[in-house]
Parts: sequence; C-alpha cells; structure tokens
Amino acid sequence: MSDVPGIVIIGAGQAGLQSAESLRAGGFQGSITLLGDEPYGPYHRPPLSKAWLSGEIEASQLVMRAPELLARKEIDLRIGVRVHSIDRAAQMLRLADGKALPYAGLVLATGATPRALRLPGADAPNVLALRTRDDGVRIAEALSVCKSRALPVVVIGGGFIGLEVAATARKLGLEVSVLEATPRLCARALVPMLSDWFAELHRSHGVGIELGAKVAAIEVSDGRAVAVRCADGAVFSCGLVVVGIGVVANDQLAFAAGLECEGGIVVDECARTADPMITAAGDCTARRLPDGGLLRLESVNNATEQAKSAAASLLGLERKFTGTPWFWSDQFGWKLQMAGLPVGADRVELRGDMQGDSFSLYHYRGDQLVSADSLNAPKDHLAARKELDKTATL
Ligand SMILES: Cc1cc2nc3c(=O)[nH]c(=O)nc-3n(C[C@H](O)[C@H](O)[C@H](O)COP(=O)(O)OP(=O)(O)OC[C@H]3O[C@@H](n4cnc5c(N)ncnc54)[C@H](O)[C@@H]3O)c2cc1C
Repeated sequence: MSDVPGIVIIGAGQAGLQSAESLRAGGFQGSITLLGDEPYGPYHRPPLSKAWLSGEIEASQLVMRAPELLARKEIDLRIGVRVHSIDRAAQMLRLADGKALPYAGLVLATGATPRALRLPGADAPNVLALRTRDDGVRIAEALSVCKSRALPVVVIGGGFIGLEVAATARKLGLEVSVLEATPRLCARALVPMLSDWFAELHRSHGVGIELGAKVAAIEVSDGRAVAVRCADGAVFSCGLVVVGIGVVANDQLAFAAGLECEGGIVVDECARTADPMITAAGDCTARRLPDGGLLRLESVNNATEQAKSAAASLLGLERKFTGTPWFWSDQFGWKLQMAGLPVGADRVELRGDMQGDSFSLYHYRGDQLVSADSLNAPKDHLAARKELDKTATL
C-alpha cells in the first residue's frame, strides 16, 4: 500500500468521527483515515433503542455525516475494514484482509461490545443484544414477528438500554417483562428513589418489572427461545429475548499492542495513552483520575469530548477533558437528563413533584452540587450543568 503516513482512526463511530473532524478543525493538513468495521459510516446509536426502533424516524436520520461532507473535509472514510493488530515499533496497522497501513498518529475509538449472557439457550437466534444498526434491524424484525403472533418480549437487564427497548416494545403494543438481577433498576447510575420511580413508570404502562430475578436458562424449542426460566422457578414465555446486561470495552487491539488496559484502554485527562503517537477516546477507554482511580463512561458526551482531547493531543496541544459528564434517556415520553456523577453525595434535594409531570433531584456533597437528575425539566438540567462546570474536576 502506498499510503503516506497520516493520522489513522480505528472505529468510525461517535468518537472516531469527532476525532477526525477535530483534527481538521484544529488545522491538521495531513491525511486522515477513518476505519470502521461496520458496513455503515458513522451513525447515531441512541435512537436504535428509541425513536428509530419505534418507527418514529427513518434509517437515513441515523446518519451522522453525508459522505460528501466527509469528502469535503478530506476525511477518508473506509467502511467494512477491520484492524487486526497494531505494530507500535513500525507504526503500522495490519488489517484483517492482510494489508498494512502505516500511521504517524493513531486514535483508538473502537467502542464496546455487549456483555454476553453465558447461559444455556442464549445462542438461540431470537436472543439478541443491541449495539449496532444491524442489531437494531434484527430486533425490529423480531418485534414485528412478536406483534403478529402475540408473543411476549423478555428483556434481561434493567439498565437504560433494556428499559428503553422495553418502553418501545410496550409502545408498539407488545407484552413485555424486564428481568433485573439486582434489587433495583439502573443501580449503577440512579439513586434508589429514582430507580423506584422508573419501576413504577414502567409498571404503570403495563411492563412487568421483576427485581432480584436470577435468570437460570433460556428454554429453546425448534431452535428458538420460547421461555426464560429463573432460579426461583418462575418462567416467562417469549418470542424475543433482548439482553442488556452492560458492555465490555473493545480494548483487545490496544492490549495486544502492549498498552495499559484495565477494563478499557487507560488514558489520561488528555486522552493520551503511554505511547505518544496513540490516543484513545469513547467507550473503549478508562480514564485515570487524579486520585489514581479509573473512570469509565459510556455516553455520547464522553465520546465527543474525549475525542476532541484525543485530536488536540495528536496536534501537540493539551486539552484536558474536565467537563461535567452528562447523559440522557427517553422512556414513555419522559426525558431523563443526568449531569455530573453522584459520587459521595450525602444529601438530595427534590425540585418539583415526583408525582407531577416534571421534577429534578439535585445531589449535594456538603454544600457542593455533585450531580442532578432531571425528568422533563431541561431548564434544571442546563442550570445544573452550568453550576457543575464551575467546579468540574473529573
Ligand atoms: C442502543 C443504544 C442507546 C444508547 N443511548 C444513549 C443515550 O441515550 N445517551 C447517551 O449519551 N449514550 C447512549 N448510548 C451510548 C453511546 O451511543 C455510546 O457511548 C457512543 O456511541 C460511544 O461512541 P464510541 O465512538 O466510543 O463507540 P461506537 O459508537 O461503538 O463506535 C466504535 C466503532 O468502532 C468499530 N470497531 C471496533 N473495533 C474495530 C476494529 N478492530 N477495526 C475497525 N473498527 C472497529 C465498531 O464496530 C464501532 O463501529 C447508547 C448506545 C446504544 C447502543
């Protein structure tokens, strides 16, 4: 291959695209190659469990950038290309088709993969996880089969993606149960009073919410999952099982290349790895914090902001990613917007009415606001972010 070494970005998702555009915006004039192993250019993942799955938006609305726009910015997008390995000493990538591609700088933006459910029956074709557009197509098709045959849907995992799929399936008129292993929903991200509120929201719309449910096996008949069996003997019949039990960072390439990985590619606050030619951004990373701990975030905001830092670092600039983390989720007409992290919070303040049509929970450590969860309260969310930005240290 005769490519002149420029900057190569592995992963044409949220962080990959942002890195490419930030490199150009930052004045980089060399070649930028954006490699993605999916058959699509960069697309929005969040609607896959929301407006796209419910049929409110079309596939074309998932597309992040028209090919002409990328061409105008001289970003060389190559889809269907999988990177097999990184030779750091030679600054060379080996692609899955055997070809080699040199790089002068590298951004790892490889995202994450749904955690696999290791149970008997989990390999049946109607047991599906949701990460990619192709996953979304398979789930949408399976939902319509369930609808036409009046078969229930079982969601394993009461995190945000599981709950969004449950809400969408319910909206489409399907019978849905969510089986969550822990005693509450979204336990990693929500305070208990909000977990309870979401459980109530789902139940009020007819979703079965089973907490503390230990799934033991998926029963298969004629090659298809027909029921989910729990350790306590409860059985949930199904035409589709959606598994949403978290993701695992795609750090295998980095690990094999000798970069530090600990549940993700370890980066500093400027998205740098220990190799000065290599940065990493998005769901594939674990950010080293000043106290030595690691922070893993899986959000559009994190991917975008970290990618800007990754691009800056490759341009020799120092752009610390210290902004307030934020995230959103849409379920049954409610928009949850979260800002900050409720780490070490010792007091919660309710603004509005949890029985009403909008409210916010502000979390404080002493007198300092550390995070805020807003439900249909965008003004509260923006105000909290403004306040949190003043003291952001992450
Ligand atoms: C259904 C769903 C709903 C979501 N909803 C929300 C939401 O409401 N709010 C929010 O903030 N976030 C949401 N997220 C999370 C958000 O989409 C992710 O945090 C974000 O997409 C991460 O971007 P990324 O670039 O790090 O990874 P990705 O967007 O996953 O991109 C990584 C890309 O790299 C490719 N790749 C991996 N390895 C290789 C290789 N070796 N060679 C070539 N290519 C490779 C992958 O196939 C993938 O295309 C949602 C995610 C999903 C799946």
